[in-house]
Amino acid sequence: MQLLDGKACAAAIKKEVAVESARLAIGRKPVLALVRVGEDPASKVYVAAKAKACEECGIESRNTSLPEDTSEARVLDVLRAFNDDPDVDGILLQLPLPRHIDSDRAIASISPEKDVDGFRPESLGRLAAGTPRFVPCTPLGIRELLIRNGIATAGAHAVVLGRSVIVGKPMALLLGLKGPGGDATVTTVHSRSRNIEDHTRRADILIAAMGVPKFVKKDMVKDGAVVIDVGINRVDDPSSQKGYALVGDVDFDAVAPRTSFITPVPGGVGPMTVAMLMSNTLAAFRMRTGK
Ligand code: NAP
Repeated sequence: MQLLDGKACAAAIKKEVAVESARLAIGRKPVLALVRVGEDPASKVYVAAKAKACEECGIESRNTSLPEDTSEARVLDVLRAFNDDPDVDGILLQLPLPRHIDSDRAIASISPEKDVDGFRPESLGRLAAGTPRFVPCTPLGIRELLIRNGIATAGAHAVVLGRSVIVGKPMALLLGLKGPGGDATVTTVHSRSRNIEDHTRRADILIAAMGVPKFVKKDMVKDGAVVIDVGINRVDDPSSQKGYALVGDVDFDAVAPRTSFITPVPGGVGPMTVAMLMSNTLAAFRMRTGK
């Protein structure tokens, strides 16, 4: 069993982005707008991590934090202002939004050229059509982790647990694309799937993105499989100072010995997501400036 070190891989990618943005940033740096609404503690942590990564990569971040009771119209105004600002290359709207704001409408209001999270329907449509522009950062990071660790996907049976627009669906589409990191035979599993373990046991590459703590057990995984754990779940842990622990969707201790490669939680997929946001922002800057 080998651990897939997302932290190290993400550091290498951020270094590459930093070199490239320093080379290209004549006149101005790439700029990423980070928009957060409300007081969700996890969102605060994620946005802070993204701002820090921008600093490491020579990308300027413009942070806007709006209070919980901000109206949807006001959020749309803020997004519109970033859309209209010629010096802003990418816009990240941190999810989840407070319940009174329609997330789909807010995401759809981001300009397609600045949709560095790749959540707009057009971005997903382009990926489905085989002509991707911005691919959601988590699946893109997983593909990069597989490629950089020499894990062949061509002809492999990949099983993706989950079909969200953020992770599962674009992951399945990416793995099915022609080319490096693709050409897999893909099965998608969701909450209406029957006999899930029959699918997971046939997986050469198993990607768990359900948000169910330790769902994947030892007897659900084939010997020698590659297991990617996307889940980040808070579970009560009175022994920790914070009162909770972060666990993935995979029962790591039991499953790891069966695998050829496995990602840890934390330190696996999470850092790759942030690194790919930097990479997508640089791509947006290049597209917009023609550099
Ligand atoms: P989501 O929108 O809630 O989607 C979960 C998916 O899993 C859905 O498609 C759902 O099926 C399926 N599912 C849930 N319970 C299931 C069950 N018991 N059996 C079969 N399928 C089931 O979640 P998400 O946004 O994709 O996130 C998934 C996990 O990844 C979460 O823990 C999240 O925190 C984590 N995450 C991590 C990163 C990172 O950077 N590491 C990034 C994003 C998300 P239906 O479609 O039928 O409802």
